[in-house]
Amino acid sequence: MIDISEHLASLNSRQREAVTAPDGPVLVTAGAGSGKTAVLVNRIAWLIGTRNVPANRIIAVTFTNKAAREMKRRVQTLLSDAPIEPVVGTFHGLCNQFLRIRHQEAGLDRNFSIMDQDDQKSFIATLMKSQNRRFGEITPQQVQAHINRCKESKQRAGQAEVYTERYGILEEMYKVYEHECEAQGRVDFAELILRTVEVMERNAKVREHIQDRFQHLLIDEFQDTNALQYQWMELFGGKFKNITAVGDEDQSIYSWRGALAGNLKRFEDAYADALVIRLEQNYRSTRPILDAANALIKHNSNRFEKKLWTGKKGGSRIRFMSANDSSAEAYFVANQIQQIEATGRKLAEFAVLYRTNAQSRNFEEVFGAQNIPFRVYGGVRFYQRREVKEVVSYLHLIANPNANDALLRAINTPPRGIGDVAKRHIAERAGEQNISYWDVTVELAETGSRWTKMQLFVDLIMELRKLTETRSLGQLIKAVIELSGLRDYYEKHADPTERDRVVNLDELINAGFAFVASSPAALETEVLGEYLDGVALDPGDTHNDEPEEKVQLMTLHSAKGLEFPVVFLSGLDETILPHFFSTQSNNRFKGENEEAMEEERRLCYVGMTRAEAVLYITRANRRMVRGEWQSFRRSRFIDEIPKRLLEYVNLASSPNTSELDDDEHDEVDSKCADWMGKSVRHKKFGEGFVTDVELNNKDPYLTVKFDRFGTKLMLAEFVTIVHD
Ligand code: ATP
Ligand code: MG
Repeated sequence: MIDISEHLASLNSRQREAVTAPDGPVLVTAGAGSGKTAVLVNRIAWLIGTRNVPANRIIAVTFTNKAAREMKRRVQTLLSDAPIEPVVGTFHGLCNQFLRIRHQEAGLDRNFSIMDQDDQKSFIATLMKSQNRRFGEITPQQVQAHINRCKESKQRAGQAEVYTERYGILEEMYKVYEHECEAQGRVDFAELILRTVEVMERNAKVREHIQDRFQHLLIDEFQDTNALQYQWMELFGGKFKNITAVGDEDQSIYSWRGALAGNLKRFEDAYADALVIRLEQNYRSTRPILDAANALIKHNSNRFEKKLWTGKKGGSRIRFMSANDSSAEAYFVANQIQQIEATGRKLAEFAVLYRTNAQSRNFEEVFGAQNIPFRVYGGVRFYQRREVKEVVSYLHLIANPNANDALLRAINTPPRGIGDVAKRHIAERAGEQNISYWDVTVELAETGSRWTKMQLFVDLIMELRKLTETRSLGQLIKAVIELSGLRDYYEKHADPTERDRVVNLDELINAGFAFVASSPAALETEVLGEYLDGVALDPGDTHNDEPEEKVQLMTLHSAKGLEFPVVFLSGLDETILPHFFSTQSNNRFKGENEEAMEEERRLCYVGMTRAEAVLYITRANRRMVRGEWQSFRRSRFIDEIPKRLLEYVNLASSPNTSELDDDEHDEVDSKCADWMGKSVRHKKFGEGFVTDVELNNKDPYLTVKFDRFGTKLMLAEFVTIVHD
């Protein structure tokens, strides 16, 4: 037994209760930074250390591979570095492992390759092109959405009743897609989970084995699970029902991908004997940050009210900067970072968050010019770059001869005179004979001199395949780049920006060597497959996971669960955050898409609650959009933050922020509390209720929503309280 009581002593009593809960279902729902993830980590350590549950009988689900690694590391530390191996991963990663082992039961090719969302879309586009028919208005993206939606509700192609022509076409494409995926050994993200669920339902032997093996199941970020993932949970934890789920419905930000924050409620209803714990103390942020975030999220009507408080003393106001244009916004951020860094903060303690990937370029340029080292997470992700994809397509073809797409991409890259006509010929013959593109290529190569170019390509791939037996992954990637001629091609390219691609080729070799060092695969020959899975499953963080002294740039979606001492929440403008589509109507009778708007507000809440000590909010009056300047208005979310918590700053401001002292805080809070939510009457406007209070020179200013006259801002002395 490893004693972890010392660690448990640092938890609060409710956290401890959740960590040391007896067997059975446990649900922790709580706001940001309240220690939900900490509870999961401690519970795993406690189960292993104190309850002597073998580590390999515990399975935990996190949201990214990065989070999974972090969780393992923290468990390990709690257990005094005893070597342990709980199974920790993402839903997709865990299902992938499952299907690799049980590919036969799942009816999958042993070397199936995984398509990420982008691969899936281009695969669908290729299929649509080859269909020789008109699709009218239907785009590959719509077909993709249809397929993924169907899979998430466990619906296979051809199972739906078709009432409209449009739906009929979508279903037909789904059928073609399913067929081609089957033939080429391709699996998309939704399929990973659906297949796993199907095998578990169909095959009693497998089900019993898995259910016996995993005594404890733990899931983080439960608010972002979808219907299929919920079923996965029921199946994997079906025997012991020792399921610990933690989440926060205010941080549900993936409903556009089918996530159901309602799963928290569903869990509570389905497991009536669950121990339900709500945490209320936030350990992450200072009070002004927390108060501001709480005030913001209160504007969502579709939520459960919860309390969240912090014991942290003091804290500076949120610094709000409204710039003239987007480049001034970025200069401001760069300038503040440099000034704060000079006071002793490390670069890695700063994060710049934004709503969409496109916003990163603005910061990248300015940080580059100012020599501020930075790292962009996501974005034009490393593995989406053209030259990187080209090398990866070789790797796919080496690992899986049925990967038709990979063959099409690799065969004439760099150009070796195998044009579109030849490619079409391959595709047609493959269709006629019902064999893979690779088999056709080999056949053609063997039939004689007309196809010498193909012979060279076949020789190349065979040679590379042979190398997998003796060379490490890094060496293999290097060989692909050299022997295929890709390095030569880019190095000698006439266009200098194309020549820059060589840098990424080298980075890819580094990634290969780094991967081997950290690879969980036991056998050298399995490393390539593991690596390709990693590339597809978590493109944002596979190529380099070293902690670096760099400012971190990422979207709000990828910031989930993380924390940083200093956060810049940028682009707080209408149509950016909230995003354009939430300000549009989804229904001709309604003004705005309210559900989407609430999700945008949750995203903003996620962003604000990442900050530990200092939070900046920035925006710009003008931004360049498709080559032209456009005007922007400040985001409504700024107006939902009580003004007493904001400090207006400008380009010249130094980062010495004004602290709110606790007495001032308490006084303000109690005066405001006297008014919050009260029904009031005004002489002219009649009855309404108070939705916000702020103090201006200690006089309460109320935001009142009147029954008949809309929302107005006024001094408290003009209204009388009707009743509480
Ligand atoms: P999010 O909703 O953003 O995912 P969370 O609820 O998972 O947040 P954690 O990340 O687990 O919160 O914890 C937030 C921070 O508070 C972490 O730095 C964690 O180490 C710290 N923390 C959690 N519980 C305690 C505690 N009892 N005492 C001191 N620090 C704590
Ligand atoms: Mg967390």
